[in-house]
Amino acid sequence: MKISAITIFPEYFAPLELSLIGKAKESGLIDFAILNLRDFTDDNHHTVDDTPYGGGAGMVMKAEVWGDAIDSVLPTSQTISDLIILTPAGKKFSQKMATEFARSEHLIFACGRYEGIDSRVTTFYQSQPKVRVHEVSIGDYVLNGGEVAALAITEAVVRLIPGVIGNPESLIEESHNEAGLVEYPTFTKPPEWRGLQVPEVLTSGNHGAIAKWRLEQAEIRSQNARGD
Ligand code: SAM
Repeated sequence: MKISAITIFPEYFAPLELSLIGKAKESGLIDFAILNLRDFTDDNHHTVDDTPYGGGAGMVMKAEVWGDAIDSVLPTSQTISDLIILTPAGKKFSQKMATEFARSEHLIFACGRYEGIDSRVTTFYQSQPKVRVHEVSIGDYVLNGGEVAALAITEAVVRLIPGVIGNPESLIEESHNEAGLVEYPTFTKPPEWRGLQVPEVLTSGNHGAIAKWRLEQAEIRSQNARGD
């Protein structure tokens, strides 16, 4: 998979060198291109924003600059690219979306700043046959920019690519999988810590009883924590 991210702060993406994502990059499972949006400006001040039509506070990111930057990462082949435009007004990111994005050949993150990106960028790329556009939010709150959102989505997606996680079984019982439950509580040694015991069933060796207990706990936890 290729992941392109367009930003005015390329330094934000330094953590991609670390941990499992860093290893996936080293082993060639993923290839990153981090582009500085300002490289696509043509004025001395490298201007990426302008005042909003209709008035109001703040600045809006310019469509021409974004268009040139996005065009520069679109492959000339028949590859379909998934253009993820990060915005708090987008569809809320979920494990289901992560699974869909993990099947993509090319993800492009458009990281907004200021009051966001001129809306014609979304409209234009929706009309392009080799681009699927997704306006995505990582939650109901407002960040200063899309970089942190792009990192969160990248981490959730990349760990689903075959070969990235050493033991793929660990993905099966996780929270937010197809069963729609969050994971059961987990424990490790020692059996007692600060007066708190590990639930007896987990040390019983009875696999049937353990599976039943875990399912019950996952249901209780899902109900208590989430309700949805
Ligand atoms: N004026 C915009 C609004 O009210 O919807 C907020 C713009 S925000 C300050 C600047 C940029 O941060 C956005 O263009 C987007 O790229 C990013 N951003 C902020 N919150 C986000 C969220 N919850 N999910 C994804 N991206 C977000």
